[in-house]
Formats: sequence, C-alpha cells, structure tokens
Amino acid sequence: MCGIVGYVGHKEALSILMDKLRMLTYRGYDSAGIAVSKNGRFYLRKCKGKVSDLEAIVDAERDSGTIGIGHTRWATHGPPSTRNAHPHVDCSGQIAVVQNGIVENFWELKQELIEAGHTFQSDTDTEVIAHLVEEYYDDNLTTAVALAMQRMKGAMAVLVMHQGEDDRLVAAKMDSPPLIIGLGRGENHVASDIPALLHYTNKIYVLEDGEIATITRDSVIISNYKEPKAPDRRLYERKVIVVDWSPEVAQKGGFPHYMLKEIHEQPQTVLDTLRGRLPERADAPIELEELNVTPEEIAAVERMTFVACGTAYHACLVAKYAFEQALRIPVTVDIGSEYRYRQPIIWAQ
Ligand code: GLU
Repeated sequence: MCGIVGYVGHKEALSILMDKLRMLTYRGYDSAGIAVSKNGRFYLRKCKGKVSDLEAIVDAERDSGTIGIGHTRWATHGPPSTRNAHPHVDCSGQIAVVQNGIVENFWELKQELIEAGHTFQSDTDTEVIAHLVEEYYDDNLTTAVALAMQRMKGAMAVLVMHQGEDDRLVAAKMDSPPLIIGLGRGENHVASDIPALLHYTNKIYVLEDGEIATITRDSVIISNYKEPKAPDRRLYERKVIVVDWSPEVAQKGGFPHYMLKEIHEQPQTVLDTLRGRLPERADAPIELEELNVTPEEIAAVERMTFVACGTAYHACLVAKYAFEQALRIPVTVDIGSEYRYRQPIIWAQ
C-alpha cells in the first residue's frame, strides 16, 4: 500500500513533504519521490528504495517553493525502479502526478495516447494520468483532471500539480484508496492517512468516491468529477472533521493497541498486497513475478519453513495448517530472531 502526500501554503514544501512521507513508510513501499514547484519549474527527485535514499538525493537546504506532492510506491504495473517511481510527468514536463491504486484500463488509454503523439517514459499505469490531463488541459487543471478521471476505470487516489497554476493541487478519488485533506491556516495538506497530517492540523476532510478537490493555500473546493461543467465550482458544503487523537494514538488508528488495529486491517492489507497481481478471471493463475520462480520450481518444492516474528509468527502457525491441508507437504514455523543462530537444517534441492 503506497502513500500520497501534498502541501500548498507559505512554508518550504520540501521538508514538510519529506516529513509526511516518513510518516507513511509503515504502510510498506518500494520507491519514493517528490516534486515541488517554484517559478514555473519542478524540482523532481525520485528513486527506488527507502525514503532515506530519497533524502540522500534531495537537497534539503534548497529554497524549494511552497507547493508540492510526494509518493511512496508499492508497484503494481512496472517493476520497482527509479524510472517507474512517482511523480510522473506529461510530455511537456509541466504536469506532475502521483497515484495510489490502479488504472485498470491503462493499456487501452496508453495506446490511444501514443497514437495521439504522446511519449511515455515508464511502464506504469500512472503515467497515463499525466498524459490524459495534458490532453484535456485548457487553462483549468481541475477540469482537465475531472475529464481524465471520467476516462479511467479502476480504484485510485490521484494528486496532480501544474506549473502554470502553481497555487493549487487537484486531488481526486475513485473507489477504495483513501485521501485526506488537512486544513491549516494559510496552508492546506493532503495525505493518504490521518497520522501523517496530525503534526500540522487536526481539521480534515475525507474525500469520498467520485469527488475532486481543488486545494489552494486558502481554500478547498470539493466537487464531483462526473459533473461535466466547471468542477471547481463548489458542489458540496463539507463538514470539517476535528480529530481529537494525539499523533501517537492516531498511529494506532483509534484502536487501543497496535495488535487490535492490525487484526482489523487484515482484509484490507491482504487486498492491498495482492493489488494488481490478481487476474480478472477467477480461474486464471495468480502470477507473482517478483518471486522469480518458475512453475516447475514451485512444483518441485518438498517442504517449507515459515520464518516470522511476533504476530506474524502466530499468523504463520495458522498458515501452516492451511498450507499443509492444501498442498500436502510439510511446513515448519520458526521464530525469526532465533533462526540464524540455531543452525537450522536447510534442504537444498
Ligand atoms: N499502480 C501504480 C504503480 O504501479 C501505483 C501503485 C501504488 O499504489 O503505489 O505505479
């Protein structure tokens, strides 16, 4: 599960974005990136690996400007790499996009855009969004993002920035990935979850499915992207939610302790982990390319060891039953912290 962050206000955007990205790392990710805009130019840095790797290539001292977006990626389309890391830009390099989720019909859209003359730099579904927005852009970023959203199918949270309108971010949401807008004084924030915002504000809007938000330092206008006309005209009066959790409690999502939180998150976590890896047809095989193992190699496995710590160790004890029942091969479960010291017997084939 990846993370999206955004900032528009009066402070240096870069350090705020990096701080919020660090808050989202617990969600799991394989690459990270940021884009900040100043005087009609993007400062864009991204890399495969950790947020600390991104920190190493970002010039923290730089006078970065006061608007930007950032991302931690959990790859679904295109392997983890610097090229595939977000933000992605359009052909003109003026539009920057981060996305959490999947554009299901990205292949058809990509072919259409290539025929219309667009050039792609990455293997991701996300880059399609940047080019679609470019295609529809006519001096109004919100309208262009709304039209792009209308063309896409899938489940996604999107955050977009344009060099020509560098006083605003446009956020949109289709189906499940969450997107939260944090309301500050003379500044507004975006993040995938509440804990990442709580150091800055406790007043939030939760974006709903089908909605689009135009976010400047002084205003947030929420509308429906299916509305064909002027999506930056306010459609809803949204009640501000005041979160009364401390940042520490918020990390636990309102649950009294982490274990309860993790138990309740399991259905969503399994869904997020397999996102983009499940076939459309229920009887088609699941392909986990990252494992780098052939079907023949899998079929030759004669026994398995699950190595895990804490709650995961207990989950493995349950998984042992399921795997042995389904596969009829023996499974042992080992405690991770002991494994390398206890000289385990490892069978090589
Ligand atoms: N589908 C997008 C990609 O592969 C976004 C994945 C994510 O949610 O991080 O780049």
